[in-house]
Amino acid sequence: MTAAQKHMGLIASLGCVLCRRVLDLGYTPCEVHHIGDTADRSDFLTIPLCPEHHRGATGFHGLGERAFNRTYRTSETKLLAMTLEDLAKQRRAA
Ligand SMILES: [Zn+2]
Ligand SMILES: [Zn+2]
Repeated sequence: MTAAQKHMGLIASLGCVLCRRVLDLGYTPCEVHHIGDTADRSDFLTIPLCPEHHRGATGFHGLGERAFNRTYRTSETKLLAMTLEDLAKQRRAA
C-alpha cells in the first residue's frame, strides 16, 4: 500500500467531517473528497464527506463551492484543518 492510500484510508475512517464537527450529528460513513483546484489535486489534500454532503443535493458538488460554504459557514480549508486536527488526536490516542 502506498503512503497516499494509507492516508486516504485514515481519512475515510474518521467519518464525515461536516456531520461530526459542524452539524454535531456524530459519526457517519464517508467518501474521500479532494479539495482545491484540479491543478493542486493531491491525495494528501483530502477531507471525509458522507455521500450526501459530498455528491448529494445538500453536498459540496450538488450545491457548488460558494453555496456550500455559505450554507455551512465553512470552507474546504477549514474542513481540512478540522480533519488534520482529528488525525492528530487519533494518533495521540493510539
Ligand atoms: Zn455528512
Ligand atoms: Zn469531491
